[in-house]
Amino acid sequence: MPPRLSTPLATPDTPATQRQLSRRAWRLGLIAGFITQILLLLFVTAVGLNTIKANEQRLKSVTQEHMRKLQLSKQMVFLARERTLNLFKVLYADDLFERDKLYLEFTGMANQFVVARSELVKLPLTPLEQKLLAEQRDLTRHAVPIQEQIMAMAMAEQLRSAQALLLTEAIPAQNAVLDVLSRLDEASIASSQAAIQAAEQAHAAARLWMLILGAAALLIGIVVAMVVIIHTNRAGREREHMATHDALTGLPNRMLLIGRLEQAIARALRHELLVGVMFIDLDRFKLVNDTLGHTAGDELIRAIAERLSQAVRGEDIVARLGGDEFVVVVSDAEQAHQIMHVAEKLIENITRNYQIAGHEVFTTCSIGISVFPNDGSTPQDLLRHADTAMYHAKETGRNRYQMFDSEMNARVAQRLTLETELRQGIARGEFLPYYQPQIDLDTGHIHVVEALMRWHHPSRGTMEPASYLDLMEETGAIVELGRQLLLQACIQCAKWHAEGHTDLAVAINLSGKEFWQEHLIEMVEAALAQAHLPAQSLHIELTESILMQDIDQAVARIRQLKQMGIRVAVDDFGTGYSSLAHLKHFPVDTLKIDRFFIKDINNQSIDAEITRAIIMLSESLGLDTVVEGVEDARQLETLRGLGCRVAQGFLFSHPLPGNDIGALLGRNWSDTIANKPPDRP
Ligand code: C2E
Ligand code: CA
Ligand code: CA
Repeated sequence: MPPRLSTPLATPDTPATQRQLSRRAWRLGLIAGFITQILLLLFVTAVGLNTIKANEQRLKSVTQEHMRKLQLSKQMVFLARERTLNLFKVLYADDLFERDKLYLEFTGMANQFVVARSELVKLPLTPLEQKLLAEQRDLTRHAVPIQEQIMAMAMAEQLRSAQALLLTEAIPAQNAVLDVLSRLDEASIASSQAAIQAAEQAHAAARLWMLILGAAALLIGIVVAMVVIIHTNRAGREREHMATHDALTGLPNRMLLIGRLEQAIARALRHELLVGVMFIDLDRFKLVNDTLGHTAGDELIRAIAERLSQAVRGEDIVARLGGDEFVVVVSDAEQAHQIMHVAEKLIENITRNYQIAGHEVFTTCSIGISVFPNDGSTPQDLLRHADTAMYHAKETGRNRYQMFDSEMNARVAQRLTLETELRQGIARGEFLPYYQPQIDLDTGHIHVVEALMRWHHPSRGTMEPASYLDLMEETGAIVELGRQLLLQACIQCAKWHAEGHTDLAVAINLSGKEFWQEHLIEMVEAALAQAHLPAQSLHIELTESILMQDIDQAVARIRQLKQMGIRVAVDDFGTGYSSLAHLKHFPVDTLKIDRFFIKDINNQSIDAEITRAIIMLSESLGLDTVVEGVEDARQLETLRGLGCRVAQGFLFSHPLPGNDIGALLGRNWSDTIANKPPDRP
């Protein structure tokens, strides 16, 4: 069995491009997220550090101001007190010097007070402090003249009245000043505390902001990380899906199928159940692709995938191996007929019509079935055997299912061996043309010998083409072998010419692959040239079915051959599609009537009638007629009676090696023709 390649179907490329685009968008988004996060962190750090520094400075300056204020107001209180005390001391001092000294101190303190105050005024003050200072100024303005008057009185020795004035006026006035100053002190403590509190609040706010922004950055980081994780997970899952599923239908592919089949086998083994593996191949799917196009082909494949999936249970597996090949695995079956029942259902489902691209499309399928454990214990064996069975379903008429049996394997193995041997045989030159003469019944001479291939198989002896020709055609090996045989036949014929049989021609058979090969004409020309054989001495035999593959092209090819001088015969005439209607279009020279009609020509009068009709038709078209397979004298007699002119068959000679033909060529066959036994050499 030849390996069947799965045809890749055209899939639109847009989803792939879209995937690529979205992947790029994702990557850009993530990079942007990371950059934002880093910038935010930098920003938070910078802002935080700045705020803290500013706050610290503010706190420091507030504290310094406060200290200074306290210091100054304390100094003012002290000076005010000292001055009052000074007045006392002056009033109660006996010594004149002492009094002078106190007086000097008294005025000095006034100056110091003024300096302290003016310094205090320069500091930033609250409205309350300003108000209190104004009050103090007014009170001081009231108190100072009294004090000075007392001092003057003391200097003038009016001590009693000065003491009285001190007690009644100066002290209360000074107390009022002290009172204001102590309130100022309190106010400045309060304002400092407020400032410190404000600074602390600002500090706390800054901390809060840093916390918020830091948390935001952290959150973004977490989000970005989560997105990255989700995205890579999803991308991973997508990749896995792509690697294990078929892109067109979304069904599991071969890889996943094998894994699932393994599981199904393991389960079946545990529960002593059966697993059915069905290899499904559409019949003539290529036709849909060729006539309606690949898009329609894809659509049909999708529709079939859906029908298959609908027809089986959830635990069963539907997979696509590519092209028009599907596999259905029926797991956990108790009896084989359950599996067969599913196969029948699948065939029924698939054969229902489809609406594809506005057309009603019908298709059938062939199914091969292998069953675990009977036909194999590994997924690979089961699939291979199901495939083999499918191939047999195709060979035996399609649109059916076929259970695997072990003989199929033997046949497959045989085929494989034969294929290898054929290839080796060609390489080793084990193939030779044999020749069978065609006898001119009027003259008794041989004008044509037909070359027929024989294989000198190293162990099986000489083999006729029937057992290997199809395989050779299928594998294409026939093309190379045909070239070799053509050359040998031409060389042999040229040799006979050289021996004096100059009007002898050799007829060769061409199969479909040989006739339709691209360089047929060049190949034939080369063989003739190499053998130095005139083209007139070469005949080519083609069957009707080859010509019917493409009538116009066939006619064109035959014309080319005829232009070279080669004669062309239609072989096995009467067995193919009857091409009577086309016959007049084919520019051929000869019709060879198939030996099927000759075999029973004496017992079946219908065969004789057909043969007569063909001979008449052939003559009316101006063609020569040759009958094949003439085995006995009675057949020949009948054929002669029907107007036959040229005959070929065992009656005259079996196909023989080239060397044995020489002796036949010079002979006159009239005795044989006249119903006498031939005088064999
Ligand atoms: P064919 O072209 O119809 O060849 C005639 C076949 O009939 C030959 O079988 C031949 O041996 C056989 N034959 C001749 N006289 C008689 C007879 O009186 N009675 C019976 N029963 N058979 C007779 P062979 O050689 O086995 O070839 C079978 C077919 O294989 C040929 O049919 C031809 O189609 C193909 N073939 C043979 N040689 C070649 C070749 O070199 N190239 C290609 N492409 N095909 C070949
Ligand atoms: Ca032939
Ligand atoms: Ca034939």
